[in-house]
This record gives sequence, structure tokens and C-alpha cells, in this order.
Amino acid sequence: MISKERYLSPEKWGLILNELPFQLQTSIIGQSVLNQPIAAHRIGNGPVKVLMWSQMHGNESTTTRALFDVIKHLYSSDGNSLLENLSLMVIPQLNPDGAAAYTRLNANGIDLNRDAIVLSQPESTALKGVFDAFTPDFCFNLHGQRSIFSAGKKGKPATLSFLSPAADTALTITPARTKAMQLIGSITGALQPDLPHQMGRYDDTFNPNCVGDSFTAHGVPTVLFEAGHHGLDYDRNFAKEMVVKALMAGLIGISSEKYLENSVEDYQAIPENEKDYVDLIIKNVTVETDSGIFKNQELAVIFQEVKKEKSVAFIPTCFAFAKKINVLAHKTVRADEVMNTNSIKYSPGKSIDIF
Ligand SMILES: [Zn+2]
Repeated sequence: MISKERYLSPEKWGLILNELPFQLQTSIIGQSVLNQPIAAHRIGNGPVKVLMWSQMHGNESTTTRALFDVIKHLYSSDGNSLLENLSLMVIPQLNPDGAAAYTRLNANGIDLNRDAIVLSQPESTALKGVFDAFTPDFCFNLHGQRSIFSAGKKGKPATLSFLSPAADTALTITPARTKAMQLIGSITGALQPDLPHQMGRYDDTFNPNCVGDSFTAHGVPTVLFEAGHHGLDYDRNFAKEMVVKALMAGLIGISSEKYLENSVEDYQAIPENEKDYVDLIIKNVTVETDSGIFKNQELAVIFQEVKKEKSVAFIPTCFAFAKKINVLAHKTVRADEVMNTNSIKYSPGKSIDIF
């Protein structure tokens, strides 16, 4: 399986931005390890300031694509009134080298979301510089998550997930966290008809190296958005639409201050993300391992994402097998539907041939 949508290099993003019928106010906030410019766009002139950044992890492109639709909407007659209340600072690709290479890490192999204290990377100092200069009232930290997550135990994938990051090891619900939780509660409330039992909440263990935790500890309400999976939508077009709705609900909530009607309990009622899913279960497989041959097994398969030219290839790999496997799958098939032979040589992580 191949996706042209998931690969979003700075070059491709530049072409997409050129489709806008207006000029964005753009500044260059720094250079990446490989000397690519990191751009930020200032949108609106209102008193309430929202800083958002996407593709801090270069292979998480769905939220960047959503930003394009949000920007277009904000400049339409419908969205324009929001810009009287809000000033946005939008960094679509904080990690342009990772975006080009389709990697989570930057070109030095560093996870930028574990660099908030040391600020060892130029991308980290660029973001911190904007945070210090712009003094946001809210931050949106935009990510994409793997297809392995369910939203609680209802047997549905987590198409969107959220987190109000902790500000300290005691997980104190500080004023900043309270606001972030209220805002997430208002966003998930707005999206409930679209995504029943398909929105999850991440574990809030405090990690001061994570940017969201660091900014929350600085007293700024920060919301982590994670674009997730739905059905067989490996292009993540449905998730992108949901991110657009979630971002707009967040901005409308902030602008109107209606999010203050939500409670911390609304946030706490969101089910936690569980690692319950695999991409594929293949039934009736004969599995050969070093310890023997096992007939009529169920094989759980996870897709590894690999950049292939200007696309992303999803490579099926062995995850686990059992007579009756206890995981959820986005798709279940019989061996004869996807394999030339129903027999495989198994080891964890080994790729398999399916059609
Ligand atoms: Zn991420």
C-alpha cells in the first residue's frame, strides 16, 4: 500500500501554500540542522494569542495538512470574525529535515519533543524563541499517532487523541492545566457526533523534556492534538477533516470563551488511549518458527511506514500469532485472500509478502 498524502516535504508544502489566494505574513524563525528555513505565519490581530506548531515530528503530516484548511477558513467571510479576537502564530513544519526524510527525529537523530530543557537543537531554540517573544495565551502542539491506539475499551480506533500535559510530577491541576482541560472538553464535546467513542486521552506522566509539559509549567495552557486512524484511511484524509474541526472548535472556544463552561471532569471523562490495535489479522496461517510449525493460526500484522520516492509505503510486518489472537484489527482476512501460500516463516518485525 502506498500513500502520496502522508509524505509532506517542505517542497510539497510550499507548493500547497502557493495555492492560497492571498499572501501570508511570514517570518523565518530559524534554520534547521540542514539549513532549511523554519517559517512561521502571523494571522490575525486580536488580543488573544495562540501559538501552534506541527511536524515537530517530521513524519506526522496530517495536522500540517489540516492547518492549510484552517488558514483558508480563517480568511473566508465565515472565519474572518475570529481574527478580530485572535492572533495566531503558526509554524507548519518545525522539523523540515524530518519532513523531507519522513522521520520522527531531526537530522541529528534527536526527538525535538524531548529537547525542551537542554534546547540542544536549532529547531528547539527556534520554537522557544517564538514562545518567549510571542508570549502566547494558548499553545497547540500538533502531532500524528500510529494506527495501534484505541479510544478506551469500546473497540474503536482513536481517530483523535488529546492531552493536557502535566506541569509537575504531582500532576497538579494548575490554572493553565485547568484551562487546557476545559478547552479539550469543549473540543471533544463539539466533535462527539462525528467521532463517538473515537477520541482518546494520553497518559499525563510528567516529562519536563517534552515541550507541552515545559510550556504548561511556564503557565501557558497547552493542548496536544494527535491525528489518528480510522478504518482503512491510511492517507488520513478523514482524520485531517477531524483535525480541522477540532482546531476550529478550539479557536472558536477560545475566542468566545465558551470553553470556560466545560469542566475538568469533562476532560477526565475522555477514555485513555489503549494500545489495542494492529493493522491486519490474517486467519488460517501456518506459522513456522524455530520451535515448530503451528497450523491454522491467526497472524497479527503491523504496517511499518517507509519513505519511497515521494510517497510512503506501508510494509506489512509480523507482530504476533496465536490460535485466537487477542487484539483488534483495522482489517481481517483469510490467508488465501492475500497470500500465495498460507505458510510463513515467522519472526517478530519480519516483513511478509501479501497482495
Ligand atoms: Zn509526534
